[in-house]
Amino acid sequence: MKKFYIKTFGCQMNVNDSEKMAGILRSLGYEKTDLPEEADLIIVNTCSVRAKPDNKAYSFIGNLKKIKKEKPETIIAVGGCVPQKEKESILRFKHVDLVFGTFNFMKIGELIERAKKERVVEILNSKIPEEDKVPLIDSYLENVCVAYVTVQRGCNRFCSYCIVPFTRGRERSVKPELVFKEVKRLAERGVKEVHLLGQNVDFYNYEGIDLADLLYMVSEVEGIERIRFTTSHPCGFNRKIVEAMKNIEKVCPYVHLPPQSGSTKILERMNRGYTREEYIERVMMLKEEIPEVALSGDFIVGFPGETTKDFEETLSLVETCVFDQGFVFEYSPRPFTKASNFKDDVPKKEKNRRLQELQNLLRVQAEEKNKKRLGCIEEVLVEGKSPKGKELSGRTKDNKLVVFDGSEELVGKFVEIEITETSPFFLKGKLLQKVKV
Ligand code: SAM
Ligand code: SF4
Repeated sequence: MKKFYIKTFGCQMNVNDSEKMAGILRSLGYEKTDLPEEADLIIVNTCSVRAKPDNKAYSFIGNLKKIKKEKPETIIAVGGCVPQKEKESILRFKHVDLVFGTFNFMKIGELIERAKKERVVEILNSKIPEEDKVPLIDSYLENVCVAYVTVQRGCNRFCSYCIVPFTRGRERSVKPELVFKEVKRLAERGVKEVHLLGQNVDFYNYEGIDLADLLYMVSEVEGIERIRFTTSHPCGFNRKIVEAMKNIEKVCPYVHLPPQSGSTKILERMNRGYTREEYIERVMMLKEEIPEVALSGDFIVGFPGETTKDFEETLSLVETCVFDQGFVFEYSPRPFTKASNFKDDVPKKEKNRRLQELQNLLRVQAEEKNKKRLGCIEEVLVEGKSPKGKELSGRTKDNKLVVFDGSEELVGKFVEIEITETSPFFLKGKLLQKVKV
């Protein structure tokens, strides 16, 4: 049996695209391996949203030269966001046999067959008719009980720092019937929790059916016990979605709503489409309606023109909104974006100082929130081994990572855990009982 190895960089959507490619390969008789050296086919799914993953992908691709030299029959394929806009940066690696973009990953089987005969470079610039059929592919699931479902691709918003509209094209929503079918199929395969993915999932719209409508539809699928959706955008996140979250028991009280900055001046330069006050007002509405909700967000520090005062406004926004989790990134200029023409005027050292300060504040908030869970009994869906491998881990409905001792037969089950220890990043607890299978 031929073996494939996939290395994925970047966001959940890339992970989901890789799972789909793996599903296609499995249907073609390939078997997955975790060792690139023993693979007949190596796929690198790249990310270009920040300079860091971009560079990591280049060095990973460079290192594959050794394998190609030792086993020249190995097919090396590079796909995703980097080749979509900058294929030359991949073509310079002469050991790469196949280069493809973000619009044709579902054609991977056919592309590989061609790459066995000659070098293939296929970058499409817009949606192809087959794209609507993507959800019908059974993705290869690493996790037996939690699965991603991409419901929206691309983005129309053109934030001035962001490369996504250039690499993933215009925003398009997947037909609700196809989403429903895919979720049903996942439930039949034992999945209990689905994450509906979109770059701005709140703008989901298929012929008038919006995200709230989709949540009601998906909640009808028997066997699915939890539904999450991500990423939310402050301009699209609205009362109707909050009402759906309140009305549908299966929808988890967790929202990833990236503010990016707390300064209206910077938000304007970022072309985010909302002010500091509007962001805070959205969060307050959410917390008033669903007091137990967990909030997370992304932040960019050191955006061109960000003064100490602007940064302090970000800190104060965080103090006002109180986050359960936050992801902070130092601004890095990306090609094709409007901001790449702005002067990158915050020194690297200062960007890093701001990153540390904001991360510290977010850590303190997370720690305080998690401390309140001490002694509480939490319902946890067991996902597998803990990151360190010794214990089991799973998540609460509001997305807190919980680690505990237990046997592997609990994976995929709901259990009750008494929280005995807390930290900013996870909770530790004692298994009380299995609640439901
Ligand atoms: N669509 C989501 C939104 O609007 O919030 C975010 C999608 S983006 C793929 C993921 C995160 O990467 C962003 O929220 C932002 O914080 C970060 N990011 C994007 N471009 C960046 C850049 N040029 N420099 C640093 N961070 C960046
Ligand atoms: Fe990028 Fe902005 Fe679109 Fe998010 S909304 S993907 S940050 S352009």
